Amino acid sequence: MINILFAAVTERWDQYENPLKKQLDLLSLKYKLAENLPPDEVDYIIYAPNSSIKDFSVFTSLKAVLNLWAGVEDVVKNKTLQVPLARMVDEGLTQGMKEWVLGHVMRHHLGTDLHVFGQDGQWRDWSAPPLAKNRSVTVLGLGALGAQCAKTLSKIGFKVSGWSQSKKLIENVICYYGSDGLEKSLKDAEIVVLLLPATNETENIINQKTINYLSNKAVIINPGRGPLIDEEALLKGIENGKIGHATLDVFREEPLPENHVFWAHPKITVTPHIASETRPETASKVIATNIDRFEKGQPLLNQVDFKAGY
Ligand code: NAP
Repeated sequence: MINILFAAVTERWDQYENPLKKQLDLLSLKYKLAENLPPDEVDYIIYAPNSSIKDFSVFTSLKAVLNLWAGVEDVVKNKTLQVPLARMVDEGLTQGMKEWVLGHVMRHHLGTDLHVFGQDGQWRDWSAPPLAKNRSVTVLGLGALGAQCAKTLSKIGFKVSGWSQSKKLIENVICYYGSDGLEKSLKDAEIVVLLLPATNETENIINQKTINYLSNKAVIINPGRGPLIDEEALLKGIENGKIGHATLDVFREEPLPENHVFWAHPKITVTPHIASETRPETASKVIATNIDRFEKGQPLLNQVDFKAGY
């Protein structure tokens, strides 16, 4: 019998219980899945970082933790976690992110705000947007989400560059990597999409220096993590015209405090960490597959490198 603890807020249990059971049954696994189990009997934890579990040391038989979220920045810092950790890569989450990124890139590419907010009797016939092939977009982070977003944007016709830690080959995307590649990837970019994880290396990757690499009036779109951006440098960049707009879905403090300057800033759009979420139907399949693999002695899919922090 495999004992699987579901550790997330109760609304999630309501959404996940049936899809998880369906996928575990399809693999003919013998299991007990519950929100509460004696800690010393738990084999796997399906885990949301906002669950109440913070001390993994009480789970003395634990084999692995399966994260429900793509981001693992808080989990990797938990010293009580001494077993393998898988992050979430889910086709529903990826599809949602592609749609969100494309929508926000298109908003800025087409300049829709001018007409949505500027219906004032003025015939602005100078405002036709350029074609996508004349617009450069850079995606920082070419992992499960970034690579798919870069591909989607290139299919529309944008000039797409990307940046990652290791070398990548993505059709019609100029791929840069390593510390030397950052400046090249950002050079004259008009729209930058941040899909990096929050690690010691990526903190404040958007700072005064890197903002200066961009084209004037560049747009920053951040569905990655709040700490990727040096907030002061961003505000300064907007003030001096280097940044034309920032669309931010994630923040250093969430929920973004009511009195935060971003809320009322005319050149910042705040969305409440809704770019994309893990979808129970597709994510349950990933989780069941990973439990099945681990039980058969195979490595977990999407295993986190604790040292790298993602
Ligand atoms: P992932 O597959 O782990 O990809 C991360 C990418 O960042 C990889 O390409 C990696 O390079 C690159 N990277 C990491 N550190 C780097 C560094 N120091 N220099 C250069 N490149 C670096 O992660 P993912 O699934 O695509 O998710 C990305 C992030 O999106 C998550 O960490 C999470 O923070 C965020 N997210 C947000 C939402 C939302 O609703 N807003 C939803 C889901 C996820 P390599 O490929 O070479 O390793």
